[in-house]
Amino acid sequence: MNQDDDYPIDEKSSADTGFHGDALVALKQYFGYDSFREGQEDLVNAILAGHDVLGVMPTGAGKSICYQVPATMLPGLTIVISPLISLMRDQVDALNDAGIKAAFINTTQESDEQSMVFAQARQGDVKMLYVAPERLETERFRNFASQVKISLITVDEAHCVSQWGQDFRSSYLGIGEFIDSLPVRPTVAAFTATATEKVRRDIVRLLRLKAPKITVTGFDRPNLYFDIINMPTKRKNIWITEYAAKHSDESGIVYCATRKETEALADELNQHGIGAAAYHGGMSAEARDKAQRDFVTDQVPVVVATNAFGMGIDKSNVRYVIHHNMPESIEAYYQEAGRAGRDGEVGRCTLLWNESDIVTRRRLLDMDSDNDRMSPEDQEVVRQSHRRLLNAIIGYCRTTECLHRYIMRYFADPSSMDTVANAENASSKKPESDINSDSNTAADDGATAGSLPNQDAQADGKVFKCGNCANCESTFETIDVSDVARAVSRCVHDLNQSFGMGKIVSVLRGSKAQDLINRHLDRVPSYGALHDVPDARIRDVINQMATDGYLFVSEGRLPIVHFGLRAGETVKPDFHYEIKRIQRRKPVVATSGSAFGSYDADDSHGGTGSRPDSTAYGDYEVTEEDETLFQKFRELRRTIAQEIGKPPYIVFSDKTLRDMARIKPVTDAQFLAVNGVGENKLHLYGPRFMDVVRAQ
Ligand code: ADP
Repeated sequence: MNQDDDYPIDEKSSADTGFHGDALVALKQYFGYDSFREGQEDLVNAILAGHDVLGVMPTGAGKSICYQVPATMLPGLTIVISPLISLMRDQVDALNDAGIKAAFINTTQESDEQSMVFAQARQGDVKMLYVAPERLETERFRNFASQVKISLITVDEAHCVSQWGQDFRSSYLGIGEFIDSLPVRPTVAAFTATATEKVRRDIVRLLRLKAPKITVTGFDRPNLYFDIINMPTKRKNIWITEYAAKHSDESGIVYCATRKETEALADELNQHGIGAAAYHGGMSAEARDKAQRDFVTDQVPVVVATNAFGMGIDKSNVRYVIHHNMPESIEAYYQEAGRAGRDGEVGRCTLLWNESDIVTRRRLLDMDSDNDRMSPEDQEVVRQSHRRLLNAIIGYCRTTECLHRYIMRYFADPSSMDTVANAENASSKKPESDINSDSNTAADDGATAGSLPNQDAQADGKVFKCGNCANCESTFETIDVSDVARAVSRCVHDLNQSFGMGKIVSVLRGSKAQDLINRHLDRVPSYGALHDVPDARIRDVINQMATDGYLFVSEGRLPIVHFGLRAGETVKPDFHYEIKRIQRRKPVVATSGSAFGSYDADDSHGGTGSRPDSTAYGDYEVTEEDETLFQKFRELRRTIAQEIGKPPYIVFSDKTLRDMARIKPVTDAQFLAVNGVGENKLHLYGPRFMDVVRAQ
């Protein structure tokens, strides 16, 4: 990922700082991890050296470690500013379990309880204190803050300070002033998963970061399997229900666009015997808390939610995230989908979409409620930028490119995904060369994919394939639609570039609709020219022509189809145009197979789950015995979680239990060698887990 030229770049290597060894010791001691992940070490060392930092890392990459490790090593208190008070208890529980003294102050506490926490923090008995940004405005907190030694202030979900993002919170705007009001300015560390440059600039400016070291890590999440499926709306719930039923021992999140949809789908899942909770902003705080807790503690396997759910959710064993509709941007999608597989094990991210999602999204965008902090001009600029975000996710739904690669390209340079830019590059488009004919393919339900130019080819002429997304596992049947495209172009001309897609399709199909006859549209030359071509095919061609720059579909509530920059090409005698129809492989048994959380391919949309972090396992083959042991560990984890009233993942993650099943520890030293076991957890839970191994 490119650094922003305007920001100072962290050039200090870990060797310069001298903290490396100590930080690694703390990482192992408290968290049981042997090494830092990408970006973590630089950030930890910069914080320890007293530099402000901004860490931009995708969800699940491990941002928390970046400030939790320094917090254990710095002399004073670390204050963590986090937007969601409902999560603080879990975060603090997890830290205490790891042996780090942590506490929170929030509105769920009585005044007495708060006084106790303040007193403990004053005595140095609290190393990390979690608060919501609103807390900083209270006099009581300000008094407290002026009396204790604060070494570090961490701002989690720092993008909430920016109005350009979708999670803007005005209370974040007070953080900079709070920091400046402290008698001694502590180091300030901000973290976000939102990578856009504008938001980053806002974070630096509005939080008043001082010459921050900025670390932007690679955004890829190789353990996530991405899939996009074009599907009629009425089939979506059935598909999701079948999927959840097949994966009944896994946790999953389904994101819907509306509150109504979340409730309807949760009901449907429950009727089919699949435990599901709805979650949306219209529910009472109590009902939302219950839904969240039931999900986090594995009482219900599925939560069906609007985008109100999830920011900061640290449930590490979410195995799948399904989007019932197309989200508003790649950022939103990646953040939501990224909640799968935080433990590094396989996670599956499926986006279900169809054309009507695009219409709905466009409509929502135009109805965007006014933000009275902004002038009408600024509001329009924001709307424009939201349109651009939307276009990029539409491109994602239609691309035939590797899906990991599409997302990475987007984060590297969002503007490269603009339709016009694509259209301009398109002349250098190479024909798809590696459409391998695979006898083991099955055409799916008619999904078609548009093509973005030049995207698959690498410098060496080979096509990039990650092997862990549906596009890389699919083959694409190429269909010649030159005649359809020519007819569309003619029709747009006949209709004077003044109608939307629906009318164009009706005219080309020779519809007898009264409305059409009244407007004399049955008299234009292209009327009925495609009477034998299905509606859906014509729509696919129009959409792809818009993506490729032959057409231009205006924004707004009633999008009109105009000619695009390349429209002239369609009348040339050698004009040739193709669309690709996705063919998917039949189910492929995942290499990780039953051994890895029963991750198996869906019947109609196969996929192999790669095993991430494989170095942790080497070439280790999971045996049946290990699987049995893993299940026993899970049971014990559930029992312990119930006893201590905490979510199971706080005891140990799935990944840790897998490693434990491999190592089969019976001594303390062996138990400590398990990935994710620190000293405190050895002490708390080691004997009981080792008893399970001995009883085998
Ligand atoms: P983020 O806040 O970036 O979404 P988290 O901080 O919640 O991600 O971390 C995601 C998961 O990765 C957690 O389960 C965490 O314990 C684990 N993790 C973080 N750093 C490491 C590491 N260095 N080695 C192994 N696991 C790690």
